[in-house]
Amino acid sequence: MQPQQSPKVAIIGGGWAGIACAVELAGQGIPVTLFEAARQLGGRARRVDWEDLAIDNGQHLMIGAYRETQRLLARLGTSGKLERRPLELLVPGFRLRLPTLPAPLHLAIGLLTARGLSLREKFAAARFMQHLQALNFKLPADRPATELLEQQRQPANLVARLWAPICIAALNTPLELASAQVFCNVLRDSLAGSRADSDLLMNRADLGSLLADAALAYLAGHHSEVRLASKVNTLVRQEDCFNLDGPDFTATQVVLATHPARLPALLFGVPELAGVIAQVSTFTWQPILTLWLRFAAPLAFPFPMLGLGDSQAPWAFERNDIAPGIVAIVMSAEGPHLALTPDALRDDYLRLLARQLGPLPTLLGWKTIIEKRATYTCAPNMQRPGNRTPMDGLYLAGDYTAGADPTNAYPATLEGAVRSGVECARLLLADQK
Ligand SMILES: Cc1cc2nc3c(=O)[nH]c(=O)nc-3n(C[C@H](O)[C@H](O)[C@H](O)COP(=O)(O)OP(=O)(O)OC[C@H]3O[C@@H](n4cnc5c(N)ncnc54)[C@H](O)[C@@H]3O)c2cc1C
Repeated sequence: MQPQQSPKVAIIGGGWAGIACAVELAGQGIPVTLFEAARQLGGRARRVDWEDLAIDNGQHLMIGAYRETQRLLARLGTSGKLERRPLELLVPGFRLRLPTLPAPLHLAIGLLTARGLSLREKFAAARFMQHLQALNFKLPADRPATELLEQQRQPANLVARLWAPICIAALNTPLELASAQVFCNVLRDSLAGSRADSDLLMNRADLGSLLADAALAYLAGHHSEVRLASKVNTLVRQEDCFNLDGPDFTATQVVLATHPARLPALLFGVPELAGVIAQVSTFTWQPILTLWLRFAAPLAFPFPMLGLGDSQAPWAFERNDIAPGIVAIVMSAEGPHLALTPDALRDDYLRLLARQLGPLPTLLGWKTIIEKRATYTCAPNMQRPGNRTPMDGLYLAGDYTAGADPTNAYPATLEGAVRSGVECARLLLADQK
């Protein structure tokens, strides 16, 4: 095989990381070819057809601090499909609402006026945030989040109502397994960030309309190609280019943007990346379950997102944007709920929903989606690969990568995925110069 004359860029994987990378490069005048194994783009945040409706594989929540995600959606012209609301956590017997005031006043007033916490618990929360602020949110050593909260003498009720729900929702990892450092990074960017950073952003269109459809149109208009249902089996290094086995495509630069569990098979023939494979082989996975409910009439939610209990409990989302009467109930991470039969789980969650909202309208249909490898377990001291690999011309994008600043690691989120894609585009462009 002769070395290529002009650069030819391939992106393997069309989740949010791969799409972000492709759009960034195409927008800067670099044509790309994106290979996606599935028949649609989106990966772990995608559209699913259910009866006559387009729903999401799982309810996703974003926050104002998701800057790169918002920039991507703005570029694609779909940011208007996000609804922005000041942060509000509404759980039985507890409410935290951050007022529209400048930081840090919004947090101070929010904590002071929180319902369901004693004065002692409110001060404990404020003291904890002050302690983290004094450390600039950098812990001297990582450890399980439970240990940090115990050491900071956070009362059990405060942990159950505030810290555990935030940790489980953001890291998709039970508190006792979760990295205290990544938890602190999340608190820094949400509660302790600017008021706008802590805002909740909810998609008011299915995830396919939010990203995948617009990305396909954008890439087609920027001299780039998307090949769906096109699985790459392995990557083979050939002199100064790469052959993608499966589609049989040769590229000079490749961005691998797959789920980390797919890397060992893809990199089978690339011994230079044995270190990366060793790193991701230590990862374990956490599931996310979403129960979709279709009622005969819309439900009267006091806020579009409603906690159904303390600690690790499901959250209900009003999704009347999909169709009037649609509700998504999300349960993060591993737990005993996974041992229930689908009917028992549905009945359990309907009971919790009715406890909050009163008698429910007639249920017309329901569907459970379990993503078994929704995210990696966000454990303390994880060794995550960087976006640049030891091999010239080969880059890694995905929510599992360490990012440009490894001390500032994000959990497995849309923003983590998008940031990694943009960073790979930046590195690749710099290497072309
Ligand atoms: C149910 C659920 C709920 C979630 N909720 C939230 C939330 O509320 N907020 C939030 O920020 N994050 C949430 N997340 C996490 C978020 O969805 C992920 O972090 C993000 O989508 C990961 O994107 P990615 O591009 O890194 O990987 P992926 O989405 O896994 O993309 C990888 C892509 O590569 C493709 N692929 C794999 N192998 C090959 C191959 N050999 N050849 C070609 N293509 C291949 C796959 O088909 C896939 O499309 C949730 C995830 C799930 C599953």
